[in-house]
Amino acid sequence: MAQQRMLQFVTVAKETPEKRDASVRSQDFNEIYREYAERKAAEQAGRCSQCGVPYCQAHCPLGNNIPDWLRLTAEGRLQEAYELSQATNTFPEICGRICPQDRLCEGNCVIEQSGHGTVTIGSVEKYITDTAWDMGWVKPPKPHTERTESVGIIGAGPGGLAAADMLRRKGVQVTVYDRYDRAGGLLTYGIPGFKLEKDVVMNRVKQLEDGGVQFVLNCNVGVDLSFDAIRGKHDAVLIATGVYKTRDLTGPGAGANGIVRAIDYLTASNRKSFGDEVPEFESGELNATGKRVVVVGGGDTAMDCVRTAIRQGATSVKCLYRRDRANMPGSQREVQNAEEEGVEFVWLAAPKGFTGGADVEGVMVQKMRLGAPDASGRRSPEIIEGGDYLEEADLVVKALGFEPEEIPALWSVPELEVTRWGTIKADFRTHQTSLPGVYAVGDIVRGASLVVWAIRDGREAAEAILTYLAQPSTVAAE
Ligand SMILES: Cc1cc2nc3c(=O)[nH]c(=O)nc-3n(C[C@H](O)[C@H](O)[C@H](O)COP(=O)(O)OP(=O)(O)OC[C@H]3O[C@@H](n4cnc5c(N)ncnc54)[C@H](O)[C@@H]3O)c2cc1C
Ligand code: SF4
Repeated sequence: MAQQRMLQFVTVAKETPEKRDASVRSQDFNEIYREYAERKAAEQAGRCSQCGVPYCQAHCPLGNNIPDWLRLTAEGRLQEAYELSQATNTFPEICGRICPQDRLCEGNCVIEQSGHGTVTIGSVEKYITDTAWDMGWVKPPKPHTERTESVGIIGAGPGGLAAADMLRRKGVQVTVYDRYDRAGGLLTYGIPGFKLEKDVVMNRVKQLEDGGVQFVLNCNVGVDLSFDAIRGKHDAVLIATGVYKTRDLTGPGAGANGIVRAIDYLTASNRKSFGDEVPEFESGELNATGKRVVVVGGGDTAMDCVRTAIRQGATSVKCLYRRDRANMPGSQREVQNAEEEGVEFVWLAAPKGFTGGADVEGVMVQKMRLGAPDASGRRSPEIIEGGDYLEEADLVVKALGFEPEEIPALWSVPELEVTRWGTIKADFRTHQTSLPGVYAVGDIVRGASLVVWAIRDGREAAEAILTYLAQPSTVAAE
């Protein structure tokens, strides 16, 4: 696995091991790649000008001390670099892999701004932490002293897991409930393995288990176990359930076979990579092999779907988006990756309906243009009359974004306040909800967002929960 990770380091991917002598023993191979990766990390880290105005740090949601760990890496002091990077980030190797760095740290690197190409901060962060894992520097969150208070966390995504890690390190008894059979949330079943290898996530889950975090999986709160039961069992509760309600497509034929939800399509693909039996994949329902695929949407989920379809061996993959390239919500880096892999983008195009009978055979596409800005300042797409055409398709993937489920109703807890968008209302610093002792973090508060923000929320909420647990009234109420 270390070998596989080395291959993904910065530009190393192009220089594949196949080009090397097949007789090289695997141990030598790893050593060669370790040396190469180390050299590249030091080279990139050494490019940091230590400018003294760390915009990169200011634009990292975790406020990572990037210049200092780059300097330590350039000096070959990797363990110190790791210690510094993990002090502010619970999962640095995950952020290093999947943060949209072009919009965060790297996009604000002074060297990038001066036109000389960013320091590849994310890749260095990933390298430091992968090395820490290989060297045994990453330790389970084992506390010096156990405490009696317990916290129930609903949702084992990055928000819930970051909080679990922080609370456990302070000796709190932590139980994480999740409706899936594996922990990790979208890290496990949403984000594809070619962006985030599954063993990287599972290593973190195991590390938490080794530190004493209890996981109750296959437990759909509100169905298998009531929210009240969880509240009654723990001194504080954290809700970190993410957003999973898919925005739907309408129009004639929208219910045909072969029109599927992005989350189902990606989950099936991720399950296959775990070696699970996935009947919907085997039957072809959630498998793009040999198909003409149309993905509808312009966000990062759409990019993951098109790139997965290419890897599954689709005969063609097209992405329909109703605005133009400049106005799409997804990362430009991801669009470029997808284009290089053979995806065709059809800008200013939206589905009007679907052809075929029980099974979809094509998408009726409406051509669009950008009109006047709407209330948000973005130019609204308008239909060009008479511009319709047919795009043939055997598989259509709906990747139009996610909304929160109606948690107060589903969990019979009407006093839990939500916003008009259905996200849970929580204080932006403490993350406390309208219910005493109940906190909420991540996408269920922010709406569909980023892993790094969920980690930040989880860490902040853990701090607030520790303060709450320390209040005399909390103990008295038990
Ligand atoms: C396809 C896709 C690709 C993405 N790619 C990126 C990326 O490259 N970079 C990035 O930064 N962000 C990416 N994101 C966004 C990122 O994954 C999320 O912002 C992040 O995972 C949110 O973390 P969370 O902890 O709030 O929720 P989640 O990761 O969604 O975890 C929520 C957990 O709660 C559980 N749950 C929900 N309801 C219940 C219930 N009733 N009972 C028990 N358990 C429940 C779920 O099973 C899940 O495990 C992507 C999102 C998607 C959908
Ligand atoms: S956590 Fe994300 S934004 Fe922050 S330094 Fe790492 S890759 Fe950049």
